[in-house]
Amino acid sequence: MNDSAITTKHGLALFDLTGKQALVTGSSQGIGLSLARGMANAGASVLLNGRDTAKLEKAAESLTQEGFSVNTMVCDVTDHAAVADAVNAAEKNVGPIDILVNNAGMQHRTPLQDFDPVMFEKLLQTNISSVFNVGQAVAKHMITRGAGKIINIASVQTALARPGIAPYTATKGAVGNLTKGMATDWAQYGLQVNAIAPGYFDTPLNAALVADPEFTAWLEKRTPAGRWGQLEELTGACIFLASAASSFVNGHTLFVDGAISASL
Ligand code: NDP
Repeated sequence: MNDSAITTKHGLALFDLTGKQALVTGSSQGIGLSLARGMANAGASVLLNGRDTAKLEKAAESLTQEGFSVNTMVCDVTDHAAVADAVNAAEKNVGPIDILVNNAGMQHRTPLQDFDPVMFEKLLQTNISSVFNVGQAVAKHMITRGAGKIINIASVQTALARPGIAPYTATKGAVGNLTKGMATDWAQYGLQVNAIAPGYFDTPLNAALVADPEFTAWLEKRTPAGRWGQLEELTGACIFLASAASSFVNGHTLFVDGAISASL
């Protein structure tokens, strides 16, 4: 973000994303699709990503119907070479990527003593290598332009563990630290790299928890806000970190979790 962009914007204009393009990985459903919709509402054109072409096209169609400018980029974010090709093609054919949200991720629940090493590796690839793969491919273009916003989707597990998800916890801890590393290497080129750490939200990734009344009872008691988060409640943090409003916020992880991580 160059200095003139900051000094010429005031008030709500600081949060305006008009003219910006945002790539959101894993945006055919859940948090990614919701964040894409939120940034589109703030003026951005959005580039949706996922592996399943049909699911992605359906998501794109839903945003197009709402009047937004949408493109798609089908690729597996765990494949370093495929990601570089897809990002380079998008930069050439669709336009510069001003905002990247590294959102694609997965969960697998099993007690650690029984955890399948193949699933452990898959979690590492999907939740942390992907952030490196897409972050590096997009940052190369952002560095050339001297500006760019990267938002990595961390988790309340960036700070806290829960039974049965130790490898997920490890990957999300790493997302928090890779965010600091990216900011440290790339702030000098005008990039801001931050993370959002969501608490518990009702998405397909959490379907097993949503279907379990015991879990919901536990969550409502454990969360000072007393409830699940609603997807739209992540939008404000995302627009803030994607816009000129956060021009000197760098390497930070913003928890959006109803105060779970603030309390015992
Ligand atoms: P969902 O399972 O609902 O959606 C995941 C999305 O990622 C899908 O669009 C999926 O599409 C895509 N995806 C998965 N793997 C890949 C891949 N290898 N390459 C490209 N796209 C991929 O997840 P959520 O919306 O719940 O979660 C999104 C992010 O938020 C994750 O990083 C998750 O860890 C994090 N998070 C979620 C919380 C929650 O409460 N839901 C809480 C804290 C963090 P496709 O299958 O077509 O590839």
